[in-house]
Amino acid sequence: MKYISTRGQAPELTFEEAMLTGLARDGGLYLPAEIPVMSQDEIAALAGLPYEEIAFRVMWPYVSGSFAEDEFKQIIARAYEGFGHDARAPLKQLNENHFLLELFHGPTLAFKDFAMQLIGQLFQVALKRRGDRVTIVGATSGDTGSAAIEAFRGLDAVDVFILFPHGRVSEVQRRQMTTPADSNVHALAVDGDFDDCQAAVKDMFNDFDFRDGVKLAGVNSINFARVLAQVVYYFSAAVSLGAPHRKVSFTVPTGNFGDIFAGYIAKRMGLPIDRLVVATNQNDILHRCLSGEGYFKGDTIPSISPSMDIQVSSNFERALYYAYGEDGAAVAQLMDELKSGGFNVSQGAMEALRENFDSGRVSEDETLTTIKHTLVHSAELVCPHTAVGIKVAEEDRAADVPMITLATAHPAKFPAAVEKASGEHPPLPSRMSDLYERPERVTRIANDLGALEDHIRRHIAE
Ligand SMILES: *Cc1c(COP(=O)(O)O)cnc(C)c1O
Repeated sequence: MKYISTRGQAPELTFEEAMLTGLARDGGLYLPAEIPVMSQDEIAALAGLPYEEIAFRVMWPYVSGSFAEDEFKQIIARAYEGFGHDARAPLKQLNENHFLLELFHGPTLAFKDFAMQLIGQLFQVALKRRGDRVTIVGATSGDTGSAAIEAFRGLDAVDVFILFPHGRVSEVQRRQMTTPADSNVHALAVDGDFDDCQAAVKDMFNDFDFRDGVKLAGVNSINFARVLAQVVYYFSAAVSLGAPHRKVSFTVPTGNFGDIFAGYIAKRMGLPIDRLVVATNQNDILHRCLSGEGYFKGDTIPSISPSMDIQVSSNFERALYYAYGEDGAAVAQLMDELKSGGFNVSQGAMEALRENFDSGRVSEDETLTTIKHTLVHSAELVCPHTAVGIKVAEEDRAADVPMITLATAHPAKFPAAVEKASGEHPPLPSRMSDLYERPERVTRIANDLGALEDHIRRHIAE
């Protein structure tokens, strides 16, 4: 399988190369040159299999040129062995035709573990084989950083440095980043906000001396390997509700469009998905765009579902690529217009998007009410992101098609909002109930590129 850029001007790469590179040289995002299709019989045969086996069958065509069969099976086994639930992604029923897909049983209690745990193992095997090592640097407002640290801790081909804004992440999120004791993990509390952290990481990638010197690598949500890992649970959930003999729909709390784009890939692979519903909070650029108002940036407004506080959804570029008939030049042009504020989507591309995607937006009040309502009517305490999904799903439901809403984080990751809404304090799962007692290890550092680069250079293993 070859991988091509959404902007059509970068060299074709193998899976392994695309994974290690992240962003394409023309600024685009990598996609498989062709999306493999599974037959109805192959999909039907997934029913009842262990999650790891479904993961192997769904992802194998994408990676087969880069990994051996047994090697890939072991990578998958290691990726998901630390999950706190044997089903990995269990389904729960909310009411007669609405189901919750619980994606928060990984080590950091959010769905990002599905992709990050896999990419950690993939990096380790690929780098070992090359006799190489890399330095992963990322900025986080909370969930991504802790997922990356859990995924890469203890792997000897990688050092991982995570920049987070000092004093501006939740205590659970901070402790998840500062308590791992492995020497290749480095949590940096930056005196600045999230945008400062992100800008610093960007500046490091643009400082070619530094970038080459420390062999900088990124694992943000544009990495195709992350999208691929997320395709798997669309299959596992749909077949357990009767696919391919019955259609299902999904509602996805969305920020960077990575998770829902994985659903679109599953659909193109032959999974009978009826609707893919984008659920946004008040940061609603995607909802506005899918409502026909064009794709125009607004100011990001902080919300109680902070992992969705995004105004430019990086993975939306991939959806545009298909909506524009795989025309890289057209995508490059749109992304150019985005730099000066935004663009209108052509009529043909709008029709293509509407064939697959619906959307809805949820206010802060509605999010709180939905948490309460879900506890009262379905005996489930849900996180604010999940509540955004549930609210939109209830509005978009068709009577004859089961709706599956993705539960993207555990309520205990966002205790303040959950308690405010429901009056109940969400406890941490018992396997991490000592999180508040574990010693923390963190370096507080100035928001200064020179200081950051110097710190990283001095702390990577030789
Ligand atoms: C990252 C995240 C999202 C948004 O996912 P995207 O792939 O960026 O659309 C939603 N909920 C939670 C809890 C997250 O951590």
